[in-house]
Amino acid sequence: MFRTFIGIGSNSGDRLAAIQSAITMLSKTARPDRVVISSIYETEPFGYRNQAYFLNGVIEIATPLNPLETLRCLQRIERELGRKRGIKWGPRTIDLDILAIEGFECEKKELTVPHPGLAERRFVLVPFDEIAPCFVIARLNKTVRQLLNQTTDESQVNLYITSGALMKKLKEVTQ
Ligand code: ATP
Ligand code: CA
Ligand code: CA
Repeated sequence: MFRTFIGIGSNSGDRLAAIQSAITMLSKTARPDRVVISSIYETEPFGYRNQAYFLNGVIEIATPLNPLETLRCLQRIERELGRKRGIKWGPRTIDLDILAIEGFECEKKELTVPHPGLAERRFVLVPFDEIAPCFVIARLNKTVRQLLNQTTDESQVNLYITSGALMKKLKEVTQ
């Protein structure tokens, strides 16, 4: 089993619906034996600023899929939810990134883990810290909590829906 942390983001269309669908699809296709969901935060756009605010969260799964299989699984979900390739860091219905995998490192163009932008992104670190503050990020050799305390990113990250309320909504959909 691979303990895998996935960053999830959306800033176009019905953002929360897209996030809910992605989580539901992930629970079905990645066959995880455990799913932990952070709260969802509304966050300032990063990089290309002239666009709508994002919703961002982090999901932890324990999955039998290996890292490349997980990446393919995330890309399929992005396609099914109608992700179009456009401006780099531009608007998207859904973005699913592998943030970190316990005991695994990889530095290829197709898959870089831990995700290289992690330490400079409050919109990742705030939800990540909520579910796994003591998880140590390989290469940086720091915990998520340490990275959050040290980041120079000052962008806004505001609570949008708590993990409890989100899980309740997800149960209503899946039952
Ligand atoms: P960023 O990676 O800076 O957040 P982005 O999410 O906008 O940017 P995308 O256009 O979604 O970038 O992805 C471009 C490519 O990144 C994908 O084709 C994928 O193969 C590659 N990639 C490398 N490492 C990862 C990773 N850890 N998670 C997801 N995709 C990755
Ligand atoms: Ca991304
Ligand atoms: Ca991505």
